[in-house]
Amino acid sequence: MRLVFLGTGTSYGVPQIGCGCRTCTSADARDRRTRSAALIESGGRRLLIDTPPELRLQLVAAGVGTVDAVLFTHAHADHVHGIDDLRAISVRQGAALDVYGAAETLTELARRFPYIFDHTPPHQGTSKPQLAARALEPDRETTIAGMAVRAVPLPHGRDTVLGFRIGSVAYLTDAKAVPEPARAQLTGLDVLVLNALLPRPHPLHLSIPEAVAAAQQIGARRTFLTHLTHDTPHAELAAHQLEPDRETTIAGMAVRAVPLPHGADTVLGFRVGAMAYLTDAKAVPEGARAQLAGLEVLVLNALLPRPHPLHLSIPEAVAAAQQIGARRTFLTHLTHDSPHAELAARLPPGIAPAYDGLVVELGAE
Ligand SMILES: [Zn+2]
Ligand SMILES: [Zn+2]
Ligand SMILES: [Zn+2]
Repeated sequence: MRLVFLGTGTSYGVPQIGCGCRTCTSADARDRRTRSAALIESGGRRLLIDTPPELRLQLVAAGVGTVDAVLFTHAHADHVHGIDDLRAISVRQGAALDVYGAAETLTELARRFPYIFDHTPPHQGTSKPQLAARALEPDRETTIAGMAVRAVPLPHGRDTVLGFRIGSVAYLTDAKAVPEPARAQLTGLDVLVLNALLPRPHPLHLSIPEAVAAAQQIGARRTFLTHLTHDTPHAELAAHQLEPDRETTIAGMAVRAVPLPHGADTVLGFRVGAMAYLTDAKAVPEGARAQLAGLEVLVLNALLPRPHPLHLSIPEAVAAAQQIGARRTFLTHLTHDSPHAELAARLPPGIAPAYDGLVVELGAE
């Protein structure tokens, strides 16, 4: 079985008309996101999921001239307004093409595109898409083009969309959530495709953090996010690798990665707003200190009362903390060398040893 992403963009597409943002002007080809659609191929047959406005461009780019059936997730414009491009396929095969969807989706398509579904023949010498509408039962499996397709209803604002499970692949787009009854139909997946809109919440769609949480609950071997906006350049969203000395938005928070020496290695400390967490550093050099101005809370590793080749000692950590000048500093990564109460008693004001379970509240959110 093979999954081909034809388009991975949200309803506006990326680049957006008239937008000059860094994603819309990116040189990275992966930042061009046409409206969402996919192909599932198995046994030499092919299912098309949705007919977005760029369908012709997508099928031409993929070198695909025929499909055996179409599955519609729902009738929103970004998923169906390329439906007329199916004409090339039905004309070439000389027979109607089966299109599947929830009964309400098919009704809406017939209302919006009466010329396709009104059972009248095309005018002499012209053509129109010949489509045979077939309603799918939710939460049931239907054999389509030799593949067992399970239709999984999912909430999308006030609407319901259909996700599709085909063997060990599931394609879920435009969902706001993946509720328990849907999850029960998504066990043992090899590949999950899940919509993820923005780093922040959206009323109709899973946000990126929500999609990540849902993906972890579903537990597919591999998950791919789709229906993405221009808010997140591909490389940045994909990066497990953080750029040193730069800020990256993660889970809605601006995270600055601060490289620090740790013997021959470099570790990353993290500044998130007015808080910084630096562990396993042997020093906090000037380049790092410059990124740590105005901290409310600093967490800093401190190993032993005496020097250590890889770590700040307690006196070195105190000196570094005083140079950095956070309002409060907590020492961590401690050894059995210093009992908490004893260490706490000999640290200067504003510097305290941390302990397991300590919660530090920051004034401003
Ligand atoms: Zn843009
Ligand atoms: Zn939608
Ligand atoms: Zn959509």
